[in-house]
Amino acid sequence: MQAELVGLLEPIRRHKAKILVLTGAGISAESGIPTFRGREGYWVVGSKNYMPEEMATHAMFERYPEQVWRWYLLRFGICTKAQPNRAHRALVTLEAAFLDQFTLVTQNIDGLHRRAGSSEARTYCIHGDAAYVRCADDCGAGLLPLPTIDEPIGPELTAKQRKLLSCPKCGGWLRPQVLWFDECYDEANYRADSAMAAALEAELLLVVGTSGATSLPMRIGIVCQQHGATVIDVNPESNPFSALAQQAEQGCAVRSTASDTLPGVVEYLTGVSA
Ligand code: NAD
Repeated sequence: MQAELVGLLEPIRRHKAKILVLTGAGISAESGIPTFRGREGYWVVGSKNYMPEEMATHAMFERYPEQVWRWYLLRFGICTKAQPNRAHRALVTLEAAFLDQFTLVTQNIDGLHRRAGSSEARTYCIHGDAAYVRCADDCGAGLLPLPTIDEPIGPELTAKQRKLLSCPKCGGWLRPQVLWFDECYDEANYRADSAMAAALEAELLLVVGTSGATSLPMRIGIVCQQHGATVIDVNPESNPFSALAQQAEQGCAVRSTASDTLPGVVEYLTGVSA
């Protein structure tokens, strides 16, 4: 591990300081789940191509609920088949060593942190979790597991698929438990206040695999940098968090992949091989 990184991690290890890990699609890229910045993101409705930022919106769901559901079901299928990788598992080791000094904020909806063994209590899925759905009309049905859909997803949903995706209480559409690009963060669904509270207390912010295109993660980064937390960004590409890390009093940008870097960082912080 590079000397600069060791120098930044040493006081965190010695004092068992408060750690906030912020992950994005990059940590799951090595599990085979495409990021939004890749070419795989677009989707065709009629003769028009839509980007994820257009598909994952309330406006699109209002207009084409079936198309949005098909897009999600195909993406969710990729998530279900994917397996957590070394980087996800390293964070489980870090949590086991730091317990309440550790918080994980993830933008990923793929469930790979949960499936690797990160606790629900210390993991805030600020963009939701594909394993759950709720009533699109908020009729009070609560949070429900994503229905199991066995039939393949064709060019249109079948009657059976439409029924499975209907709210058991009011009969309207269910929707994925995912924050859409034209919606606001909240605590009840997405633990946004808890994530900000963790940012205010963090002594180390470890950012992994995010392009910084969404607002709450950027606010978390800025708050951490402003109150003097150590900021480390792990990403093969430069991005707004690598700039923040370089501007921080204590910080560095590690231009490498999550699975190449996190096991070493965690082993240094915990003394446990990760
Ligand atoms: P993003 O697609 O905007 O950016 C991904 C970042 O990961 C890029 O900066 C890229 O350089 C970096 N990266 C790629 N491979 C990496 C690796 N092996 N190790 C470390 N970094 C790597 O993703 P985002 O910033 O998370 O934001 C986009 C939105 O997309 C979020 O709202 C998120 O909810 C959603 N999303 C989630 C998933 C998922 O759940 N796995 C997948 C795609 C998009």
